[in-house]
Amino acid sequence: MQFTTDLLFAKSLDQKSHISFRDLFFIPTHEGKEAIYFLGNSLGLQPKTTILYINRILKTWAEVGVEGFFKGQNPWLEYQESLIVDLAEIVGALPEEVVIMNGLTVNLHMMMVSFYQPDSKRNKIICEAKAFSSDQYMLETHLRQRGLEPGEIIIEIAPREGEHVLNHEDVFATIEKYKDQLSLVFFGGVNYYSGQLLDMRAITEKSHGAGAKVGFDLAHAAGNVELKLHDWGVDFACWCNYKYLNSGPGAVAAAYIHEKYHHDTSLQRFGGWWGFKKESRFQMEKGFVPINTAEGWSLSTPPLILFAAHKASLEIFRKADIQNLVIKGKLMSNYLFYLLFEMNQRSSQKVLQVITPEAESERGCQVSILMHTDGNKVFEYLSAQGVFADWREPNVIRLAPVPLYNTFEEIWNFVQILKQAIKTIITKDDETTIN
Ligand SMILES: *Cc1c(COP(=O)(O)O)cnc(C)c1O
Repeated sequence: MQFTTDLLFAKSLDQKSHISFRDLFFIPTHEGKEAIYFLGNSLGLQPKTTILYINRILKTWAEVGVEGFFKGQNPWLEYQESLIVDLAEIVGALPEEVVIMNGLTVNLHMMMVSFYQPDSKRNKIICEAKAFSSDQYMLETHLRQRGLEPGEIIIEIAPREGEHVLNHEDVFATIEKYKDQLSLVFFGGVNYYSGQLLDMRAITEKSHGAGAKVGFDLAHAAGNVELKLHDWGVDFACWCNYKYLNSGPGAVAAAYIHEKYHHDTSLQRFGGWWGFKKESRFQMEKGFVPINTAEGWSLSTPPLILFAAHKASLEIFRKADIQNLVIKGKLMSNYLFYLLFEMNQRSSQKVLQVITPEAESERGCQVSILMHTDGNKVFEYLSAQGVFADWREPNVIRLAPVPLYNTFEEIWNFVQILKQAIKTIITKDDETTIN
């Protein structure tokens, strides 16, 4: 599509878009006006229906107490089943391959128990350098708990000198290099810092070719990019549901486990009564017998109030259809790329650089900007003008225009505010700089 820089064009893109669900969300305000909320990658906005679904749980609890597990429209015992089809669609899994439980980091530990099975020959783990902190701490502490030294096990891959994103050739070459010692390959599907989307299909193929298992952290991928976990043959994946999936702060998380493992009794796992064979769960007998689906990894009584919040969001995803959202998300980030590029073109001084890959196949809707100078001041200016963006040390501003509730007009407005910020803070009265 040929973009132009005028406001009317932004408005026409919004009019042409058939999938705006903005009206279904509460939009945060700034000085009495709707703010420009580009933080759906951090905490997605609240659907207006969330409170209704939560209230239903509270009402049932008030009226029938524990009987709520068995009674009413949507008995709590079967509540997860009413969510799983929609969630599986979003990540490209079979419904029986997805389980909703715990928090993301908890689930990563749980998947390590099952999928990291080192032996005397194979014990290495390949992952990205500077992974999200929680993932790093998970690996470090998990390995120590098993009596292993993280420094001897973990092989990190970093961007090349002077670059900001991983080069797939380096990922493949490293897998090849360690093919006789490799146990697990584990990456963020979309990097939280740069917004880079990795080729998960190719990484899975290469990892399996090297005899290793492969898992992904999809915190920034789920609800943002196209995923085909089952078809790609990914072994496991975990994600949180409070980012693009709008299920609220501390939302219940989810995990995917490929169906080929559901009957595999050689796999280690941590068990709990909620993963026990449903027919006899309440007989409380000795000897763990797991459910033969991803639910067999469940431990505890489901947090129904959190499930209700998740349901409100999943219903919107079902209406919108993830395929449409992915297309619109890419169009939005393309448009933001274009406006930033135009701005930089007209400027005598290059004050910023987009570090997210330009190729559509290598990103979702997040765009990360590296400020060459005064980044924190620019960021403060944006915040004072009602732009919700995200600041990452030392000098990166992350923006996520989300297709469900953000608009092209907001992207246009954001770029005007950014121009003002740069003119006020960096280029001062240099008239030729930004127009
Ligand atoms: C957001 C995020 C987390 C957060 O983990 P929680 O256990 O949900 O707090 C972990 N890993 C990545 C890659 C993330 O983006």
